[in-house]
Amino acid sequence: MSLPTTPKGWAIRLTQILSAVQGTHGLPRFPIDVATLAQDFSRQVFPNAPITMVRGLNLSRGVDGMLTPHPHGSGEWGIIFNETIRSPGRRNFTLAHELGHYLLHRRNNPNGLTCTNRNMADWDEGRNRIEAEANTFASYLLMPLDDFRAQIKDRTVDIDVMTALADRYAVSLTAAILKWLTITDKRAMVVVGKDGFIDWAWSSEPLIRTGIYYAARQSVIELPPASLAAQEVDGETGRHGHLHPVGVWLGSEPVREMTVFSPTNEMTISLLLYPDRAPSRSELAELEEEPTPDTFDKFMDCKAVR
Ligand SMILES: [Zn+2]
Repeated sequence: MSLPTTPKGWAIRLTQILSAVQGTHGLPRFPIDVATLAQDFSRQVFPNAPITMVRGLNLSRGVDGMLTPHPHGSGEWGIIFNETIRSPGRRNFTLAHELGHYLLHRRNNPNGLTCTNRNMADWDEGRNRIEAEANTFASYLLMPLDDFRAQIKDRTVDIDVMTALADRYAVSLTAAILKWLTITDKRAMVVVGKDGFIDWAWSSEPLIRTGIYYAARQSVIELPPASLAAQEVDGETGRHGHLHPVGVWLGSEPVREMTVFSPTNEMTISLLLYPDRAPSRSELAELEEEPTPDTFDKFMDCKAVR
């Protein structure tokens, strides 16, 4: 059987193998034990280059994980995660991300790869192809599409649903939200804030198509002062969310924001839900006091450069 060559192809192949094994032994399908999978699978399929070590180490701050060849040139590989990271979800995602590098990129990177916290949020293949590929692989391995779709079917997505999914798959909340954003037909965005500023943000395709997104890391943008994230509301209020009037977040529509705060409050994760239907050109014009023919174009330009 030929081997896959794409991130999704690899994830689907491993999912098929896991489903067969788990079905035979009556084991629960989730969460996926990446450490065992990586070692068992690599030994069988790549006996000359097996993964023989998966462990935590006290890596430098900002480094989440590494794929590393055996120092004695035996052909063996190791996957290392930063043991100072407490979140089991982040650890699990990192292991899957490194397994993705092993399957897809080890031949072109014989000295291995070191991956930062930032790389785990790199989903733009145009900007950083191999990191985006490793993330896509991890996402599809840990959260197979059929199961993910079944879990959210007929449910109104909110932070609680996303938290339940993060628990089911043992991934971080942001990984679960990003997965949803890549498959949903809703207009939605995740905004991760750090120290009062937007660290990064990601819009669903339907939201991007209506011109609402933060351009990639070109400038420093403060969290909107009226947002839940900036106001540091209590946890219950943040999870429950708030429907903001026009003008708090990007766009010319009211936006529902739900926010969770990291325990030390230095990081915020906001899920923004926009109305299903974007305002039409004429509706947007009516929102302006003195509509001009190019109102919509200005609006689009403004979003593009922010
Ligand atoms: Zn990486």
